[in-house]
Amino acid sequence: MTTYWCERAWLPDGIAEAVRIEIADGRIVSVTANAPKTGSVLNGLTLPGFANGHSHAFHRALRGRTHHERGTFWTWRERMYSLAARLDPESYYRLARGVYAEMVLAGYTSVAEFHYLHHGPGGKPYASPNAMGDALRQAARDAGIRMTLLDTCYLAGGIGVPPDEVQQRFSDGSAEKWAERVALLKEDDLFRVGGAIHSVRAVPEYELPKVDNAVPEDRPLHIHLSEQRAENEQCEAAYRWTPTGLLWDYGVLGERLTAVHATHLTEQDVKWLGESRSGACFCPTTERDLGDGIGPARSLLDAGARLGVGSDSNAVVDAFEETRALELDDRLASEERGRFTAEELLAAGTEHISAGWPETGTLAAGAGADLVTVATDTVRTAGIEPSGVLFAAAAADVRTVVVAGREVVRDGAHVLIERPETLLAKEIEALWQF
Ligand SMILES: [Zn+2]
Repeated sequence: MTTYWCERAWLPDGIAEAVRIEIADGRIVSVTANAPKTGSVLNGLTLPGFANGHSHAFHRALRGRTHHERGTFWTWRERMYSLAARLDPESYYRLARGVYAEMVLAGYTSVAEFHYLHHGPGGKPYASPNAMGDALRQAARDAGIRMTLLDTCYLAGGIGVPPDEVQQRFSDGSAEKWAERVALLKEDDLFRVGGAIHSVRAVPEYELPKVDNAVPEDRPLHIHLSEQRAENEQCEAAYRWTPTGLLWDYGVLGERLTAVHATHLTEQDVKWLGESRSGACFCPTTERDLGDGIGPARSLLDAGARLGVGSDSNAVVDAFEETRALELDDRLASEERGRFTAEELLAAGTEHISAGWPETGTLAAGAGADLVTVATDTVRTAGIEPSGVLFAAAAADVRTVVVAGREVVRDGAHVLIERPETLLAKEIEALWQF
């Protein structure tokens, strides 16, 4: 049994003082407020671990490198594809280990990795068909973060368009062959396997139910949905449905489905996603970076959808920035303040259901023992009301992170990986040398 004593902690019914949290076998055993000071002391404010609902780890190597000639969407995509073409299982492992270390340092305790870089150059399978997925699993394990690998089905370069040369690395040829490969992946205590449909552009409509059926009911299924208007236009031209309508028509919507981005939706789309209790994962810092637009977060939550956040392209890895952006971006879109309560924002930031770890995300007995302690005496957080932490803190204010009962960050430093910044610099510079 491990005992922590938190100066303050954000419990399900509010922020409490002098909170004792007892942990055994990776789970919280008891939570007691106004407790005497015993065990390891966590000064500041302790929150449940944040969930990163959407990540492409390799995009981290694009950070700060896509603004040439003002950095259009095509500059970004061209660089992303040239990067994808260069990665192999060894280099991807080394890069991803640094990326996941950065995530834990930023307060994320689980990541849903939307993984589509499956095969070798020209689409040639590796001798071990999941060499790339295994590299990600190992990287997450070594960085101490929970991972659900959302192995992604990606079969086409667009509706009715075959995959191009780079995209051949993403394709298994058919949903059946994709499912056969995914079935070889083995789960462990910190690693789960879910699935993803890349988008309605990359998976033909008749393959949608096959992907859905191949993923076990208790594991998440994700899809990039209506991130840009062009996708809606192409989908409506080909199928006479919006992307959400197409998923509804094929029975793919539901509690285990998470729509990533969900930016350009009709009122009917919002209704379908809400009535089916689907998840909606917003990635505000990436959506800003790519100029996607602002999705209807408030309307989705009101309609019954589950709201979460993800760092997606990892241009920014900061759980606080991602979470408060739900409110701040919605203010810009609605020209109104007060769109979400602090509790609703915390719930979105710690929404581990979509990430495949439904037992985690709250400081209560029985929950997975994921804790994030934020310093409340830094230049950013000094003088705040504790409930305002999501509007004040940054990743740099995270002091302690516990994942499944194990301390992975202590005094703001990663316990398992010495100087992840050195590792990231080395790997990223090597990838861009050509
Ligand atoms: Zn994505």
